[in-house]
Amino acid sequence: MNCMFCRIILGEAPAKVYYQDDDVIVFFDRAPLTPIHLLVCPKTHYNNFMDAPQEVHQMLVRTVKRVITELGEKAKDFRIMINNGPRSGQTVFHLHYHIMAGK
Ligand code: AMP
Ligand code: ZN
Repeated sequence: MNCMFCRIILGEAPAKVYYQDDDVIVFFDRAPLTPIHLLVCPKTHYNNFMDAPQEVHQMLVRTVKRVITELGEKAKDFRIMINNGPRSGQTVFHLHYHIMAGK
């Protein structure tokens, strides 16, 4: 298994996990670009945004909204980012939504 995020999901690589259930894991980016920088990943491996079916994105967006709501005031203003493909800057080829917030 050479997917870093699958290794995190399987508990084979460390991560600071914020939330997980059967379908999704949310953990802190190890090189945060903002004070709060979380990655929201489906537990099923998809290489990128375009590979994943609509239902997976619905589940991920639900999770993104829930996490942002939970974070409250400190994530009042935020950015959601998805890189798709190496020329976009994607470096980990397991679908993930970035949540970036804080000053
Ligand atoms: P992207 O450039 O959209 O593929 O984003 C990949 C993100 O994953 C980057 O912001 C990295 O800092 C982050 N990252 C890579 N490996 C790990 C890891 N083992 N634990 C946490 N974050 C990671
Ligand atoms: Zn993976």
